[in-house]
Amino acid sequence: MRPVSSWGRLSRDLHDVVELDQVSSAGQRIAGSPRPGLPFGNGRSYGDVCLNGGGVLWATRGLDRFLAFDDRTGVIECEAGVTLREVIDLALPRGWFPAVTPGTQWVTVGGAVANDVHGKNHHRHGCFGDHVESLTLLRTDGSRIVCGPDVEPEWFRATVGGLGLTGLIVDARFRLRPVAGPWIECERHAFQSLEQFFALSDASSSGWEYTVSWIDCGTLRGGEPRGIFFAGNHAASRATAPPHRSRRVPFLPPVPLVNRLSMRAFNALYYRANQAGSERSTKHYQPFFYPLDSLLEWNRIYGPRGFYQFQCVVPKAAQQAAVRELLQAIAVSGQGSFLSVLKTFSGRPAVGMLSFPMAGTTLALDFPNLGPSTLALLQRLCAIVDTAGGRLYPAKDAVMPPGLLSRGYPEWQHFSRFRDPGISSQMSRRLVGH
Ligand SMILES: Cc1cc2nc3c(=O)[nH]c(=O)nc-3n(C[C@H](O)[C@H](O)[C@H](O)COP(=O)(O)OP(=O)(O)OC[C@H]3O[C@@H](n4cnc5c(N)ncnc54)[C@H](O)[C@@H]3O)c2cc1C
Repeated sequence: MRPVSSWGRLSRDLHDVVELDQVSSAGQRIAGSPRPGLPFGNGRSYGDVCLNGGGVLWATRGLDRFLAFDDRTGVIECEAGVTLREVIDLALPRGWFPAVTPGTQWVTVGGAVANDVHGKNHHRHGCFGDHVESLTLLRTDGSRIVCGPDVEPEWFRATVGGLGLTGLIVDARFRLRPVAGPWIECERHAFQSLEQFFALSDASSSGWEYTVSWIDCGTLRGGEPRGIFFAGNHAASRATAPPHRSRRVPFLPPVPLVNRLSMRAFNALYYRANQAGSERSTKHYQPFFYPLDSLLEWNRIYGPRGFYQFQCVVPKAAQQAAVRELLQAIAVSGQGSFLSVLKTFSGRPAVGMLSFPMAGTTLALDFPNLGPSTLALLQRLCAIVDTAGGRLYPAKDAVMPPGLLSRGYPEWQHFSRFRDPGISSQMSRRLVGH
């Protein structure tokens, strides 16, 4: 048994970690598990979706083989423990890139499917699962299911975004998108109100593949956030770039380095730095997609008690009022978010029964764990999302009340039929008792 944390570092419960390294023996190992287990990718989820305290974790990083890659079509097949970083290292020199990537490249393909992750291009390319052609699922009863959009489609819909609860994904075949090279043409604009944010978002969605906004949660003028809107497209340049180096947070500070003062100072500085200067630039894909990956183990800066991430989406009809109410509740609480991200999602139908995106606006926030006062704020935010008809993103969640799950994810009951009885997570126990 050893302690395992998710990326938010809110707990360090003991787990029986079983390292899987061969697909050929994985089925036998999960079928023989004495207690319920849970697949584990690279632990980049923030809350308890990837945890199974007191139980078994099937660690998949050892399932790291590429099985096939056609560099004429961009279709790749690999084992589930391969990371997106490894996919990019193989594919980019041959002119291909993941069609959808989250804000870190250190996620496994299995984790990307199980949370059906989204990126800055949801309005153009949907989620990761939209590009998966097939996957292989092993169940604890010893069965093996190959599924895809046209083969066993209900198993596919349950497993994409299925939070690891339908079985162990051992491999996947998915489509990449063509790119000329590693560069992104970018544009950025400062905005001073939600109206301006929505206007920029509407105006940019047809001309730009990637759009996202950072907002300054430390300064709300009359309830209006200021922020920076970023847009990007893959550039035509084929020029190569030197490898990017990352630094590491060298130790766990005894107290959080993120507090009200440092949060306000960071946000004000970031706004000023991005408000000034050229609005157009060409950036390497690493700082554009993965700015946080340049500081390895950056999650340590929140100190020993860790931090909560909170990501919700609210439907289009309610988006402006609900986002304003969420920001006002944060301002009233006096607990600002260090890094706050706002983005609109398109109405593209999701592949998975539990896929997170819906037509509307998503807001992602993080809060140092200050105990009861932080929990009270998060419950207030959940209530606002619930009233607006929205939902929370399980990949980031540690606080969602059960009612918000069933209202936010109306297919949950149907999904339950596809659950593997030999699998359980801290999140599933918290939300539905098993
Ligand atoms: C800096 C940062 C930025 C992020 N940005 C985004 C973003 O922009 N968009 C976004 O959508 N997410 C984002 N995330 C969240 C992250 O993309 C997801 O949590 C992702 O699923 C983590 O993958 P993982 O391999 O670490 O899986 P884990 O966190 O280990 O597990 C995640 C879930 O997948 C299941 N799982 C893992 N492997 C398998 C498998 N082989 N078979 C079946 N189930 C499996 C687990 O049981 C668990 O339920 C971000 C995270 C970080 C740290």
